[in-house]
Amino acid sequence: MEFEAWFQCVNGCAGRYPLNQIIYRCPDCDNLLEVTHDMDKLKKCSAREWNNLFDERYRKNEWPYGSSVWGKKELVCPAVDNENIVSTYEGGTNLFWAERLGNQIGLNDLWIKQCGMAHTGSFKDLGMTVLVSMVKQMRSEGKNIRAVACASTGDTSAALAAYCAVADIPAIVFLPKNKVSLTQLIQPITHGVLTLSLDTDFDGCMKAVQEICSENEIYLANSMNSLRIEGQKTISFELVHQLDGEVPDYIIVPGGNLGNVSAFGKGFKMMYELGLIKSLPRLVCAQAERANPLYLSYQNGFKEFHSVTAKTTQASAIQIGDPVSVNKAIRALKEFDGIVEQATEDELANAVGRANRTGLLCCPHTGVALAALEKLVGKGVIKPKDRVIVISTANGLKFTDFLLKYHADELEDVKSQNVFHPVELPADINIIRKTIHEKLSEQIPS
Ligand SMILES: *Cc1c(COP(=O)(O)O)cnc(C)c1O
Ligand SMILES: [Zn+2]
Repeated sequence: MEFEAWFQCVNGCAGRYPLNQIIYRCPDCDNLLEVTHDMDKLKKCSAREWNNLFDERYRKNEWPYGSSVWGKKELVCPAVDNENIVSTYEGGTNLFWAERLGNQIGLNDLWIKQCGMAHTGSFKDLGMTVLVSMVKQMRSEGKNIRAVACASTGDTSAALAAYCAVADIPAIVFLPKNKVSLTQLIQPITHGVLTLSLDTDFDGCMKAVQEICSENEIYLANSMNSLRIEGQKTISFELVHQLDGEVPDYIIVPGGNLGNVSAFGKGFKMMYELGLIKSLPRLVCAQAERANPLYLSYQNGFKEFHSVTAKTTQASAIQIGDPVSVNKAIRALKEFDGIVEQATEDELANAVGRANRTGLLCCPHTGVALAALEKLVGKGVIKPKDRVIVISTANGLKFTDFLLKYHADELEDVKSQNVFHPVELPADINIIRKTIHEKLSEQIPS
C-alpha cells in the first residue's frame, strides 16, 4: 500500500510541498508548515490492523521498525527510504508508576513518562531521528546540503550533534553562552560538531540561525521544521500502548518553544481519526513563570499573544520568550480543552526536591510540570481519581549543578525544603556509629 505525506500551511493555504523540499514557511502567508498525511489512505487499514502492526514491531530488532518512532513509519514520515534512516532505537521509554509521589500529592493514578531515558537524555531524539533521516535522504538524492544547524537551549543541539555524528553529516549548533548546563555543552563538543557559543539568549540564537539557514545550503533543524513534530507525536501512541489502549485524563507537558505540546495534540488527533482511541485527554502546558508568554495569553482566553523577554530560570530548556510554534500550540490546546499553568523558581525546585525523595531523578522542566500538577490538584481541577501523565522531558543527570545547588540551598529565589549534605567524618568506627545513630533519630519525615 502507498502512503503519502506532504508539507502544508497550518493556515490551510492550498500549496503542497514534498517532504524532500527545503522549505519551512508558507510562501503565501509566511506561517509555519506542518506535515499532512493522506488520512483516507491511512484509514484503509483498520484500527486493529494498525495496532497489530505497531505491536509486532515494538522493540524488535528488524531495522528500522524496532524504534518506537519508525515502528509507526507510515504515519510519521513515509517519504524516507529505510537505508537512509538515522536511528538510535528511539522511544520505548519507561512509564514510571509514581505511587508514592501520587499519594503525597493526593492522586491515585499518577505516572511519569520518562522521556529523558533516551540516547541523548531528552525527548528531542524522537524528532531529530526524522529530521536527520530526511537530510540523509535529500543528500542521497543529490540535494546540496552542506550542514544542518540549530539554535538550542541545550537538548536540541545534543540530539542534532549525536544524530549527525551517527550519519557523518556536518552540523552547527548555536548556543546561548552560559545558559546551558555543562553536560549539555559537552555533548556537541564530544561529537565533534561546530559549537557556537553566542553572547545572547535563545531567542537571539534562533534569529541568527534562521538568517544563516536562509542561505539554503544549511538546513534548519529547529522545531519550526515540522519533520521533528512528526517524530515527537509518537510519544502519544507509545503512551496509549503502554496503558493497554486507555487514554489518560490529563497530560502535563513543560513548554518553551511549544513544539512538543503541539506534537501531543497532533498525535492524539491522528489516533482519534484512525479509530485507535475513542476519547481525548486534556492537555496541560506548564511554563516557568519567568518565561510565560503562553500562560499570559491563556489568561486572556488566547485572544492575544505577546512575546516576552524570557528571564533567567533554572528550567533553562524552556527559557524562551518568543516561541516559534505558538499558533500550533494554541490550536492544540483549544482542541484538547487545554490548560496553561506556571511555576515559580521556588515551586519548580521544591517540586523536584519532593519527587526525587520518592526515587525519581527529575530535571527542572519536569519540576515545572510537577509544580503545575500540584497547583491544579490544589485548585480542584484535577481530581484524586484522574489518571495523570507527567511528561519528564530530560534526564535529571543533565542538571546535576541545579541539584547540587538545590540541596545546598544556594538557588536564587528558592528556599530549599530538602537540604542534604554529605556528612564528612574521620574513619573512626565509634564516631561513625554515633553519627549514624544521631542522624537516623533526627531524620526529617517526607
Ligand atoms: C526542548 C525541551 C522542552 C520544551 O519543548 P518545546 O517543544 O520547546 O516546548 C522542555 N524540556 C526539555 C528538557 C527540553 O529539552
Ligand atoms: Zn499559508
